[in-house]
Amino acid sequence: MRHSRSEFGVGRDRDSDALAAHAPYAAAWEDLRRRHWVMWGVYLAFFPGKWLIAAVYAKLPNYHSPQIFVIAGSAWIVAFVVSSYWAADWRCPRCHEVFIKGTWYRNPCARYCLSCGLRRGAPNGTEPGISG
Ligand SMILES: [Zn+2]
Repeated sequence: MRHSRSEFGVGRDRDSDALAAHAPYAAAWEDLRRRHWVMWGVYLAFFPGKWLIAAVYAKLPNYHSPQIFVIAGSAWIVAFVVSSYWAADWRCPRCHEVFIKGTWYRNPCARYCLSCGLRRGAPNGTEPGISG
């Protein structure tokens, strides 16, 4: 039996409601993944960006100033610092503290919240923390 579009829409809403009830942190983890993709995208854009600017520079016959590299390099550094800070400032969905910040240190590769111990990717907050 075929379902109409509206039936699929309703079913999808029910599924997403059920998913949200079972995994209320799913959207938060997706936000963390997006931040990391943006940060790594900015970082890796350096290499093709460098080659692209060098190619454009080579095509400009009467332009011999290296300022284009200074400007582009500065813009890349600013973009990388901002995206890195944005990724590092992500807050734990359970305790709302900065995920990678412990009492005395930061660990950008932390697999669990350094404040409450929530495992990265945990579907909800029912898992025990560092102290539990
Ligand atoms: Zn936490």
